[in-house]
Amino acid sequence: MEKLVSLCKRRGFIFQSSEIYGGLEATYDYGPLGVELKNNVKQIWWRDVVTSRADVVGMDAAIFMNPKVWEASGHVEEFHDPLVDCKNCRARFRADHVDTDKPCPRCGIKDWTRPRQFNLMLKTHYGPSEDSSSVIYLRPETAQGIFVNFANAQSTARMKLPFGIAQIGKAFRNEITTGNFLFRSREFEQMEMEYFVRPGESSKWLEYWVEARFDWYKSLGIAENNLRLRQHEKNELAHYAADCYDVEYEFPFGWSELEGIADRGTYDLDQHVSHSGKKMTWFDSKTNEHITPAVVEASAGVDRTVLTVLADAYHEEEVKGEKRVVLRLSPRVAPITAAVFPLVNRGGMPDIAQKIVNDLRGNFAAFFDSGGSIGRRYRRQDEAGTPFGITVDSQTLEDQTVTVRQRDSMQQERVGMDQLTDCLSEKLR
Ligand code: ATP
Repeated sequence: MEKLVSLCKRRGFIFQSSEIYGGLEATYDYGPLGVELKNNVKQIWWRDVVTSRADVVGMDAAIFMNPKVWEASGHVEEFHDPLVDCKNCRARFRADHVDTDKPCPRCGIKDWTRPRQFNLMLKTHYGPSEDSSSVIYLRPETAQGIFVNFANAQSTARMKLPFGIAQIGKAFRNEITTGNFLFRSREFEQMEMEYFVRPGESSKWLEYWVEARFDWYKSLGIAENNLRLRQHEKNELAHYAADCYDVEYEFPFGWSELEGIADRGTYDLDQHVSHSGKKMTWFDSKTNEHITPAVVEASAGVDRTVLTVLADAYHEEEVKGEKRVVLRLSPRVAPITAAVFPLVNRGGMPDIAQKIVNDLRGNFAAFFDSGGSIGRRYRRQDEAGTPFGITVDSQTLEDQTVTVRQRDSMQQERVGMDQLTDCLSEKLR
């Protein structure tokens, strides 16, 4: 993990937030390559879950919501983690993440407080007054923005059961313990989809979405043997959930959750009906019934997916006696698809390389690099996860062909300059 963190900084994927002031614990900024990778993950999710389907619509709700939402959802009462303090060194831990029969892992003394509940919602004041009436929460999940808009989205998009509403957005949790890089932070992004179905059909749809979501991670190029599904034990389930599966990845720190897919029954809509007094049903004109749909939720983390894609892609190998670090990113998510290099900075090669970049940019993320030896430029792009390197050399001046180097095999082939778009499209298919 340390090697990955260092590569992320070196190549401009991820920086510590406010680094020049010593950073802020467990908060990260995405750099020039990181933001492209993250955007690719979000775009692929949006396309696969929303725009390629007739039965799912998207939305984008505000982060601030009426505080009554969080009373109705149960977050004010229930969204707690158990907290223990070490009385000696004052370190704080999540009680379920530390063994209180043993000494404090920080100072080695065993003197614990009793566990107590700690609400994970971050608060702020809304508007110019700072009294208790202006307290409002930063949303701890995006899902509630969907539930409260159920009737608005359903009626305006004229959706019929079964149908889904999806959104991507920031969420905030005052986690007691953070760590493992992007895995657990206090500000993160979620990709959530609520799929509304006839009650009685939820287990069928849960099965459908569990499979679809598991396959989605494979489609990002993540090795299947590093992924697994884990069904929740009965005692792990939230009281309203009938069934739940986690998609997990085997990180260097062990198997951990990427996404939860849960059958939430009618709990969320029922809660909002009883707290708001508004109707939240779907009218079935065939049977003349008002139905409160059950919900199957697929709740994924953008940052955890980015971390997974990076961790899975990281490889070290030896090439001609030298260590090569390579990110074997799928071309679908790689921030740069093709890097274009003049072999040397003379003979008109830089101009030709620049023209190739300009031509490719309409269709691909292309990048020009003329700095340093060609070997160093290849190594930099290997670390950036760029699947293709295109080099303009002296032969290009004679026959208008360039070399195309594959990142993983390092094999090179000669391709006509006018064939490059077709060649890359073919390889990306
Ligand atoms: P955990 O048990 O790891 O705290 P959770 O079960 O509380 O997670 P959910 O409430 O199911 O998580 O959130 C859905 C998804 O949001 C998670 O699968 C994860 O991808 C992401 N997520 C939740 N908390 C965090 C966090 N603190 N940092 C980054 N991503 C998070």
